[in-house]
Amino acid sequence: MLAGGVGGSKFTLGVRSALARRGAPEATVVVNTGDDLWLSGVRLQPDVDSIVYALAGASDTVRGWGRAGDTERVNQELQAWGAGWPWFTLGDLDLGTHLARTGWLREGLTPTQVIERMSQRWPLGARLLPMTDAEVDTRVVLEDGSDLHFQEWWTRHRAALAPARFENPGISSAAPAPGVVEAIADADVVLVAPSNPVVSIGPILAVPGIGPALQATSARVVGVSPIIGGRVVRGMADVCLAAIGVETSAAAVAAHYGSRGSRGLLDAWLVAEEDAALAPAVSALGIDAVVAPLWMTDAEASASIVDAALGAAGL
Ligand code: GDP
Ligand code: CA
Repeated sequence: MLAGGVGGSKFTLGVRSALARRGAPEATVVVNTGDDLWLSGVRLQPDVDSIVYALAGASDTVRGWGRAGDTERVNQELQAWGAGWPWFTLGDLDLGTHLARTGWLREGLTPTQVIERMSQRWPLGARLLPMTDAEVDTRVVLEDGSDLHFQEWWTRHRAALAPARFENPGISSAAPAPGVVEAIADADVVLVAPSNPVVSIGPILAVPGIGPALQATSARVVGVSPIIGGRVVRGMADVCLAAIGVETSAAAVAAHYGSRGSRGLLDAWLVAEEDAALAPAVSALGIDAVVAPLWMTDAEASASIVDAALGAAGL
């Protein structure tokens, strides 16, 4: 599967349960690393960590990000020094993760190797791969040509500065992380999580080699709409979609991804019951439309969505 952070982690929990029930092998999750950043000397990988924490049962499900039961003592000290970003809270336990990761990176491990090592602490029940080992942090370019890191735009400005476009400097010369192309080629099915199409799935598809691998695989590629009833369920993905000229609708996102038959991404697309009326528009794109409940209220609900996606792949 291809995944971002919050939507990606809720969906990954469903994938893990659905596959375990079927006695199927663990999934490989190719995770967006466009959200990554350097802050106060440490490397953050927000989407990777969201998925690791969720699979480990260690995430703060009430707040929606970070570790359960975290404290902010180090963060207060960083603020007292005037270090880091005052509007970007780093929890103490979370900082432990970032310190461990940064230490391993400094010792020469690749991001892929760091994630492999991090995956050994808890039985995650899935194999996580970064989309690339290269640093291709997402920048938001504004109308006046100035640019800022995606995290600053998202967290500090709450996506309120009108974006002209999103860029991942260096991505055109980045390579897929080891194992990514092989996982896609060997897959029984490729699932596209209901993640932000622009800044979570977009960067994954922009890594040279991943698009062609998705075109070439004999597996069916099945996506799940992150838009329900014309609205983003959570977050500000609508602002990202508007910036690239895509309407906030399940059918418009399907059209943006395109059908695999016409050099796009999807063989099938799950739309929410609320969007059943859009199914013919999706079918007209050459993409199989499947109507299902798409609220990921808990792991069981997510597993039912995964069952519907696997069904769309004939599995
Ligand atoms: P981020 O990296 O934390 O922004 O998370 P993702 O990119 O993985 O996912 C964010 C997207 O998940 C949001 O834009 C929502 O549209 C979508 N999302 C969140 N909860 C649900 C849900 O319960 N059902 C569906 N279908 N989509 C959801
Ligand atoms: Ca993210």
